[in-house]
Amino acid sequence: MDATPPPAAVAQPADRLTDRLGRPVEDLRVSLTDRCNLRCRYCMPREIFGADHAFLDREELLSFEELTRVLSAFVDLGVSKLRLTGGEPLLRKDLPELIAMLSPLSGLRDIALTTNGILLPRVADELVAAGLQRVTISLDALDDATFRAVADTPLSVEAVLAGVDAALAAGLSPVKINAVMQRGVNDDQVEALAGWARETGVILRYIEFMDVGTTNGWVRDRVVPAADIVRRIHARWPIEAAEPTREGEVAERYRYLDGAGEVGIVASVTRPFCRTCNRARLSAIGELYTCLFAGEGHDLRAVVRGGADDAELREAIAAIWRARSDRASELRAEGGLSGPRVEMSYIGG
Ligand code: SAM
Ligand code: SF4
Ligand code: SF4
Repeated sequence: MDATPPPAAVAQPADRLTDRLGRPVEDLRVSLTDRCNLRCRYCMPREIFGADHAFLDREELLSFEELTRVLSAFVDLGVSKLRLTGGEPLLRKDLPELIAMLSPLSGLRDIALTTNGILLPRVADELVAAGLQRVTISLDALDDATFRAVADTPLSVEAVLAGVDAALAAGLSPVKINAVMQRGVNDDQVEALAGWARETGVILRYIEFMDVGTTNGWVRDRVVPAADIVRRIHARWPIEAAEPTREGEVAERYRYLDGAGEVGIVASVTRPFCRTCNRARLSAIGELYTCLFAGEGHDLRAVVRGGADDAELREAIAAIWRARSDRASELRAEGGLSGPRVEMSYIGG
């Protein structure tokens, strides 16, 4: 693969908070819990996340009041898009209450939720009533044997499909589907997933298998390159590239020529997009991570619990962001990642 030259700084208005590579902070992903009701092998392999794994204690988590304060500081600094994730965010008790607290934050354009969908039938209506507008549901296979092997669960695909139905019935729109593709594991599902998404009216996004964390046994051979997926879809249902809807968009979008909507691909491994990366991540205990592949976070909970006022909290976040120079996926393309990396289930996808 070609080496990617270090990115040039992007010009921004003088008063806008930017990092060392000129990137603003616009998209914040918030992990609400490190626990999950599945054990997807590419994310939380059971050998590591088994019965004796030390998950975070409830008292350690940021309370809803603390979260609202921290997220409000991010919004003041330029964040307009929030994604609630985990672990499995629907395991966080009273989630609709948090959404109702966050919805009124002025400056916030969008609140999204990424979930495995299993608990959605119970809460979709409440989430919508609280102000949630859209949802992303993860589904890597439509056949039970593959789904069970990938998610290491006795549940059947039907459990996720019921979540998709509940999301659509509750009026969440769009409903997006994340499908992580792995060669020799579920890559035979590419066409089946696309066909199902076209019929169901959901927007499918394939995701290249990433070396997040250090426990999921990632090997490059198991990555299904975006280009292969595009070629396969195009052969079945012709597609054309669609323009990004905004700067920093993660998924490359393609439009079906027959008018059946669009499909996306997140090519983090084969076509890294660090130079427009405007994403920050907050762990469930309030650590700010400036990259998905970072080894360590910055403790904002200590700032909040230490009595900082709103201006001090904003300045603490701004100082971390100004110092940021992460571009891990570009570095991987140039020769590989090394060193400790936080797990995906801890900081959220
Ligand atoms: N539990 C929720 C879910 O599965 O949607 C939210 C958290 S999960 C960590 C967020 C997203 O990250 C999911 O779509 C999941 O498939 C994706 N993900 C997890 N590990 C990954 C990996 N190693 N490579 C690519 N995507 C991954
Ligand atoms: Fe749980 Fe989501 Fe990770 Fe699967 S991808 S183990 S559902 S957090
Ligand atoms: Fe952003 Fe880090 Fe991913 Fe690059 S590797 S796109 S800097 S999160």
